[in-house]
Amino acid sequence: ITFSAGKRGYLPMTVQMSVMISTEEIQAKVKELGAQIDAHYANSDKELVLIGLLRGSVIFMADLCRTISKPHELDFMTVSSYGGGTVSSRDVKILKDLDGEIRGKDVLVIEDIIDSGNTLSKVLEILETRSPNSIELCTLVSKPSRREIELDVKFLGFNVEDRFIVGYGLDYDQKYRHLPFIGLIARAIHPGDDKAGFIVTTLLGIAG
Ligand code: 5GP
Ligand code: MG
Ligand code: MG
Repeated sequence: ITFSAGKRGYLPMTVQMSVMISTEEIQAKVKELGAQIDAHYANSDKELVLIGLLRGSVIFMADLCRTISKPHELDFMTVSSYGGGTVSSRDVKILKDLDGEIRGKDVLVIEDIIDSGNTLSKVLEILETRSPNSIELCTLVSKPSRREIELDVKFLGFNVEDRFIVGYGLDYDQKYRHLPFIGLIARAIHPGDDKAGFIVTTLLGIAG
């Protein structure tokens, strides 16, 4: 798939993206997850709340919640990312807290992707102090080979290998979240320059 990605200087730029998980595959999986979630919570008389971690989970959560029949609330949280490196005492700070209470409720945390698991494990610690009835995890994508902290993911969309992916909520430098598929950035090209295969990061830095 090739699409226009703005300009590099005065030249229009094109980004080539290879599809890793198609729109159809995602939509089928989302339906499947919705059915699993309904089945799991069918016998609970507690209130159900879906908690999305901003911003990556928004697209997934919007589609997923519409496949869940059981009435539920939507709430959102933004936590700070810790940057690179492998410091074991990474701390996650709440930048935007939930608007509602979760005490006594069934909490389902929705993530776009679980990589090391550090973010989510800290989020779970924070949520647990608020005495919900239950907490479960749902992620569209997981990279099991990258896991530093084991997490019990109750609802999983796709396991993928360790490649940097974008689309369906996942960004590169805040862009490409809108793509309806999950893709790998192959290369970017602009006319008049036939040196194909620039370093992807360099290109994307100027693609917007
Ligand atoms: P972790 O599980 O390492 O604490 O962090 C997960 C976060 O890292 C995700 O929410 C996402 O923001 C980012 N991330 C990890 N892998 C990828 C990837 O392949 N593509 C994108 N766009 N973000 C990723
Ligand atoms: Mg995320
Ligand atoms: Mg990101």
